Amino acid sequence: MATDRRDFLKTAGAVGSIAAAGAAFAGGGSTAHGAPTARSGPKGMARGLTLLTLKKGGEFRLGVKTEHGVLDVKEAAGILRLPAPATLDDLLQNEDGPALQALVEAALSAKSAKTAFVKEDAVEYGPLVSRPEKIVCVGLNYRKHAEETHSPVPQWPVLFNKFNGALNRHNGTVKLPTDVATQFDYEVELVIVIGAHARSVSEADALSCVAGYATGNDFTARDLQSGRGGQWMVGKAIDQFAPIGPYLVTADQVDPDRLQIECRVNGETRQSSNTSDLIFSTRQMVSYISRFFALKPGDVIFTGTPAGVIVGMPKEKQVWLKAGDKIACSVEKLGELRFELV
Ligand code: ZN
Repeated sequence: MATDRRDFLKTAGAVGSIAAAGAAFAGGGSTAHGAPTARSGPKGMARGLTLLTLKKGGEFRLGVKTEHGVLDVKEAAGILRLPAPATLDDLLQNEDGPALQALVEAALSAKSAKTAFVKEDAVEYGPLVSRPEKIVCVGLNYRKHAEETHSPVPQWPVLFNKFNGALNRHNGTVKLPTDVATQFDYEVELVIVIGAHARSVSEADALSCVAGYATGNDFTARDLQSGRGGQWMVGKAIDQFAPIGPYLVTADQVDPDRLQIECRVNGETRQSSNTSDLIFSTRQMVSYISRFFALKPGDVIFTGTPAGVIVGMPKEKQVWLKAGDKIACSVEKLGELRFELV
């Protein structure tokens, strides 16, 4: 699937013409510590890792959750003088899984790398990813959710999109745009992150293109989504309306078709379901979407929300979200995503 690019990178590395490729694919150059960045060597997805973005020294860095704490990848690469991707976007888009895994193994066994581990409760999280080429979302993908919104159960996946400006982080805030909307609602969702080029991929091969999974919230302004003639993009693609995190758990560790999925507002459970209830499964979604758009490493897919959203309640019981509300979303094995409305 990604053989074209892998071959290209191999060739580019072999003939030393990485300069052109470096700018586009490898992030080029060296880290602040002078360690080489991952620019050549084997390419592929990371396996067996739980990844996050940490904010340190005014920049976003790739982090790896381990039994010794969170590994600051940039710090470890500098100490061990090993190549490594600088950010989660770099890891995904450059397919630098093997380099990262080698670094993690080396850091876990080297005494000198001890200072590269930080306690997770001291971590300030950044957005899990910040520059996917595409954020594709699937609507009405749980039967009871379609019913609660009085929508027909779709025969084909309903697709819409968000922009990168919507990407948001664990422990972050969503600023409610009260000048343009009033009916704010939550939507916990399983998020798929693509790890290999996929165009018209079969359902059988679809999951081999997935780098990993994360917890997300397709935050929505209902009065924009269904008012004004029904404009899903405007109701869903607003700045900060796509929190994802805290982790990207690599695909080898997760069966995406049987995960408990929940959303709580100020501690009260509002949504509780299982991804086994998805109308279109993860493999069906990846395959279907790839018939229209080439899915590329780093791309993000929101897979739809289960029943229990505010818009699905009887009108007299609808109390829209407001500043000060605390939202907690969880997908089994992927961690709890928390954010506050301001
Ligand atoms: Zn949604």
